[in-house]
Amino acid sequence: MACVGLVNGRRTVASLLSDEDWKEVVKLSKGRQVLMPDTKLPAQAKTLRWDGGITRYFSHFPGESPEGYTSTESPEHIAMKVAIYKALVDLGIRAELEDGVDDWRADILVGDSAFAPRLAIEVQISPQSAQRTYERTEQRNHSGVPTLWIFGSIGLTGRLSEDLARRNPIFVAETPQDAADIASAVCRGQAFYDDLLSYQQTPARPVALLVNCACGDRWLYPFGSVLLLNRISGETAPMFISCFRTSKVGKGLLPTARIRAVEKYFDLGMSSVKASADKYGVGFGQPSEVWHRYGRFGNSKSGIRVWERSYSCPACASTPEPLTRGLPKGVALLRCPVPVATTVDARSVLSITPSWRMSRKDGWVESPMCERRWKDEFIYPLRSAISQS
Ligand SMILES: [Zn+2]
Repeated sequence: MACVGLVNGRRTVASLLSDEDWKEVVKLSKGRQVLMPDTKLPAQAKTLRWDGGITRYFSHFPGESPEGYTSTESPEHIAMKVAIYKALVDLGIRAELEDGVDDWRADILVGDSAFAPRLAIEVQISPQSAQRTYERTEQRNHSGVPTLWIFGSIGLTGRLSEDLARRNPIFVAETPQDAADIASAVCRGQAFYDDLLSYQQTPARPVALLVNCACGDRWLYPFGSVLLLNRISGETAPMFISCFRTSKVGKGLLPTARIRAVEKYFDLGMSSVKASADKYGVGFGQPSEVWHRYGRFGNSKSGIRVWERSYSCPACASTPEPLTRGLPKGVALLRCPVPVATTVDARSVLSITPSWRMSRKDGWVESPMCERRWKDEFIYPLRSAISQS
């Protein structure tokens, strides 16, 4: 199957013809006057009805395709190709369907665009191994042409090296419209490879309680941090990182490695508390060793392994009784008693991976939850408590 046929020596895109012109092309093809662009053998002009609509295409006459000639394109594939082609032409970008350089042919070969002087676009609906994707990409890179891969939802199998992915945009598209939007974004220079480096400086809001210790010392009991990932990108939501209890971190690791992973996670949760303790000139709790116990949560029938750490007074080493089992009831986690004090490297707790994105979604500053109450309950008492010390 091919989108393009040679009609009177001119490359003609079947899907873009008017009904009248298409009828004319069908007539010519019956007289064996239309040719396949790559083999120059006579082409049949055909129409396929499928649930995505009607697709017009060209193919060799039965039994006439050369040996080894593979033609397994689905109508979805053709629909995506044509949608991409149309979108690029509408943008005024030079593009050719089923064209190539040297010994390869791309679904679409793009001329000068904001992305590169030349770009190959490949639509891959059926599964293709990472190895094959790598080989085909390298073949095009060898001609100095990067490749934009647009996979169907099951097309991409395996992972490509970051090195290759950085230079060759890789996306997944559900519909021909998605594919057209992706190709447009890439060729207009909007698409970018997100290596998540910006999350190295994620603002973190500490969640802690000021302890007035019997020994006379004042210190912050750390509960964790709210990572304000939303301030880096509009696609990510704030996330709470505990520094006293977790059941999820390091699953599948060996025991000692798991303890290290839990410690690292707790340290991340604690980092903004330390920074705000410094800023306000009070101490912060000294962490205990990490331990685990089995607990029952929600509907769980069997116990879940829960990792914990407690904190003790930096001066007298006593641990406040109500806090040894974690957060006291009635303390609102998200209403932090002190303002954002620091940034943390949040990459280790992100659920997103480095990849190509259509455009940057600017971060936003979350609206404070009833600012007056927050200040009355937390900021003012804390400030005055701290300033008295
Ligand atoms: Zn104390």
